[in-house]
Amino acid sequence: MKRIPEPFRIKMVENIRMTTREEREHALADAGYNPFLLPSDSVYIDLLTDSGTGSMSDKQWAGLMLGDEAYAGSRNFFHLRDKVKRLIGYPFVIPTHQGRGAEQILFPCLIARKKRECGEKKPVFISNFHFDTTAAHIELNGGRAINVVTPLAFDTATHYDWKGNFDLDLLRAAIHEHGADTVAAIIVTVTCNSTGGQPVAMSNMREVYRIAKRHRIPVVIDSARFCENAWFIKHREPGYSEKSIQDIVLEMYGYGDMLTMSAKKDPMVNIGGLCAFRDDEALFNEVRIRCVPMEGFVTYGGLAGRDMEAMAIGIEEGMNEDFLSYRIGQVAYLGKLLQQGGVPIQQPTGGHAVFIDAKLFLPHIPSDQFPAQALNNELYLQAGIRSVEIGSLLLGRDPDSGVQKDSPVEFLRLTIPRRVYTNDHMDYVADALIALKRRAGEIRGLEFTYEPPVLRHFIARMKPVEWSYA
Ligand SMILES: *Cc1c(COP(=O)(O)O)cnc(C)c1O
Repeated sequence: MKRIPEPFRIKMVENIRMTTREEREHALADAGYNPFLLPSDSVYIDLLTDSGTGSMSDKQWAGLMLGDEAYAGSRNFFHLRDKVKRLIGYPFVIPTHQGRGAEQILFPCLIARKKRECGEKKPVFISNFHFDTTAAHIELNGGRAINVVTPLAFDTATHYDWKGNFDLDLLRAAIHEHGADTVAAIIVTVTCNSTGGQPVAMSNMREVYRIAKRHRIPVVIDSARFCENAWFIKHREPGYSEKSIQDIVLEMYGYGDMLTMSAKKDPMVNIGGLCAFRDDEALFNEVRIRCVPMEGFVTYGGLAGRDMEAMAIGIEEGMNEDFLSYRIGQVAYLGKLLQQGGVPIQQPTGGHAVFIDAKLFLPHIPSDQFPAQALNNELYLQAGIRSVEIGSLLLGRDPDSGVQKDSPVEFLRLTIPRRVYTNDHMDYVADALIALKRRAGEIRGLEFTYEPPVLRHFIARMKPVEWSYA
């Protein structure tokens, strides 16, 4: 298959060190068989996340030297604001320390506004799929989060170009069931992280917006990977192949009223986020008031001036089409190698990660023994590679009954940081997984030795289960 060479040269390197099997066995046992608890120095290739792990460009590093650290009115803020206005079309901009910083100032205002309008009914948010921090901020503030992504998203073996799309019938049904006047907002997550970095079609965004407007519901675009989504539209959706990424981005944001953004993803900064509005100045002002005690003054929002400068530069670099073709091509390249080696993956691959279907990879391990986490551990032991479980362990228990929730998928996510690893690293990752596939039957499931009551996957401790020969 065609490989796209890196559209950059390497100017600075960070050495990484391969460990021995014995070192890894000790490190993993010390970490309670939970790779989240591994020190990064004992990891050779780190595919835990693409968040804040990207490599900044020479221009972004140069931008750091131009930081204006004035408490109020930093020139870097104005630079950032002007970029967002020009590239995205939203002129009312609030910087935040990361994506959840934007969520913690926006969602309480949307919920408060809904409660003023419709009294004591629980405000509802409907999304293709709420990211976990998004759902948490909604629920912490007394709202309810409902997901209506296309059911095809969870059928890993079936190829569908738009596994991030809203199921429009489910959307209409959810509005009808709860009543349009209780829906505080519709949240369009681009790309849809939870189903594998899968894109949302422009036609779907357009129709969602039309439905929202008919019911006077505001639309929030959760924007962590908006550039990757635009690239998919250009390359998959009829009528867009001749359009620039820039034009596609502007059209996408025409089908929204406001955005939250984790700039640690597509804009390639190590820290930063945004909240911005197209024309709702009243809401913008309410959110700004909340920004001051939560994130910081409205022209820095928890960031240093230099961080805002790196973000202003990164937003534009993230939209570069050659870069996006290489980036999404690298993810597809890893996916193709795995598929050829018989490793079951979510098809097609998404923008930022390859999702391995651990249910199919390890059919002998039941979901309550966490097959994707077992695979994560084995991949680390075999090759020093760290990845992340997206399945039953992440989903957790029902808070009322204490029963393990039934996860639709058991994914192991191989998340590719931006501009960090080369295609040779991808070859190495694929080789390791294909070797594991051959001895998959030897891999054991896991059980808890310590299970925290909430967000357990971060600090849980586990051990491999004993074989039973029943
Ligand atoms: C990462 C992410 C967030 C949260 O952003 P942070 O910068 O991690 O706080 C929200 N939504 C989506 C879709 C994300 O991927």
